[in-house]
Amino acid sequence: MLRTHTCGELRRSHIGQTVTLTGWVQQNRDRGGVLWIDLRDRYGITQLVFYRSETESALLEQARSLGREFVIQASGVVVARGSQNRKNPTGEIELKVDAVTVLNASKIPPFTIEDNTDGGVELRMRYRYLDLRRPQARERLLLRDQLARQTRAYFHSQNFTEVETPVLIKPTPEGARDFVVPSRINPGEFYSLPQSPQLFKQLLMIAGFDRYFQIVKCFRDEDLRADRQPEFTQLDCEMAFVTQDDILSTFEGLIRKLFATVKGVELPEIPCMTYADAMRLYGTDKPDTRYGMQFVELNEEVKGRGFGLFDEAEWVAGFCAPGGYADYTRSQLDKLAAFLKRHKLGADGLVWAHYTVDGLPKSSVDKFYAEDSVKTWLEKCGANPGDLLLILAGPADKTRKALGELRLLIGEQLGFRDKNTFSALWVVDFPLLEWSEETGRYLAMHHPFTLPKHEDIAMLDTDPGKVRANAYDLVINGTEIGGGSLRIHDRQTQELIFKRLGLTEEEIQQQFGFLLEAFEYGAPPHGGIALGFDRLCSLFAGSDSIRDVIAFPKNNSGRDTMTDSPSTISDERLAELAISLLPKR
Ligand code: ASP
Repeated sequence: MLRTHTCGELRRSHIGQTVTLTGWVQQNRDRGGVLWIDLRDRYGITQLVFYRSETESALLEQARSLGREFVIQASGVVVARGSQNRKNPTGEIELKVDAVTVLNASKIPPFTIEDNTDGGVELRMRYRYLDLRRPQARERLLLRDQLARQTRAYFHSQNFTEVETPVLIKPTPEGARDFVVPSRINPGEFYSLPQSPQLFKQLLMIAGFDRYFQIVKCFRDEDLRADRQPEFTQLDCEMAFVTQDDILSTFEGLIRKLFATVKGVELPEIPCMTYADAMRLYGTDKPDTRYGMQFVELNEEVKGRGFGLFDEAEWVAGFCAPGGYADYTRSQLDKLAAFLKRHKLGADGLVWAHYTVDGLPKSSVDKFYAEDSVKTWLEKCGANPGDLLLILAGPADKTRKALGELRLLIGEQLGFRDKNTFSALWVVDFPLLEWSEETGRYLAMHHPFTLPKHEDIAMLDTDPGKVRANAYDLVINGTEIGGGSLRIHDRQTQELIFKRLGLTEEEIQQQFGFLLEAFEYGAPPHGGIALGFDRLCSLFAGSDSIRDVIAFPKNNSGRDTMTDSPSTISDERLAELAISLLPKR
């Protein structure tokens, strides 16, 4: 080793020892009589000291020339520090240097290498290797490593086998576009990159592996949306001979272990809520359950009093913001209404109600509703004095969504969405299919391999939208962390679903013939789940973007600005791949 110790290691007990450290120059402070250098490596920062009166002038000269981010090796004796730095674990000592070797010089970095850096995100991504020298950036990747280790340990303790599945594959539908890779030796033919290892993990169950997991890269060529990466990592799993409850409790075990070991948080048991209830109570399939404020329907209470907005609405509902009345002034309420308008959430009128300081019911539509009526709303919604009841009205789906957004905004404003509080939830019984306006037909809500609820299958012909699936999502703090399902494992049901999804016999055979055939060789009942590992890491890191927990992420246009990718390839390569591009305009 080029060093005897790391920069995070030396303490009082080392005083008097001769040691050698290596690292990067964080700071060089020349104060005339004395010169200090903060030397940094992955483990910490140790202060080096050079006293003018005691240091040879050549060494002093050399020390003075060491700029930020120079990589050096320094040897000397560990001494007690005059003024101790209690914030730094090595703050009781310093290294009195008697020899320095420059291992490599550095240009002045384009931004400061510290948590409070002056570099913007684009610049930091262009020089991500420098960005990762910052303690906070490094800590996030170490946290990710910790989560991966604990995950592997958990799965191995539960008898799961880690199996690698191929990356050059036939398309697996997960609802996004595939990235494709041309095959040079099969001109005109293409592989897809996996959107998930879905079919391979099912084939592994047919192969008898019983319990599979993989921490695996997946690829989806989606349109740009906030906080998406074209390549991302899934914790992918599949189990045979299990019920839905077995799968949920296995994963609950994982999540609780991760919280306990990595975060020191005892997560309570994870409750289940049906999709229908989540939509009814929160207007979303991924409710943030760190706080209440559930919706209460008010159709019956408000209709028929001559107030057009309510009378004409398909759905009228509200929620109660605890203590909200005191927190919102009239102009802030107007701002909430403006928020709804701005986001085209289709809510024309935001109606509010509360008890006055004298305990009297009051609303923004007093013209139409007497105190008694307003009181029934407040009571139905469980409002206490000081609470603010917010009501929206309109077409059911749209209004539910708008009220859901409003609930999130208010939760944020009232401080209920604290990053250090965690609330997990299983959302179960998702619909099997969802109507797509774009294609004018039903699409699989999860994916086409999901097992419909036995008791609902008959409705496939009569009311397809009502058929429920054995499908579930794990939601933590309002973010979908993962999802999965029990799978179809017989040829007939799978063919039926493909047909209902509009595939022809030929398409079924061409795309999924191998799967249907495999089902005929003793496929066991099975099911599984995949968790978004990047999202899980960013939740644990308390960061707002999954980019923070990915070593080398892409930007919002899917570019890696550091290596400048994607990029063009030569005409020779294109010819070899039998690809002709449209002429450049
Ligand atoms: N393959 C699914 C997905 O990527 C997860 C699963 O069903 O296990 O969303």
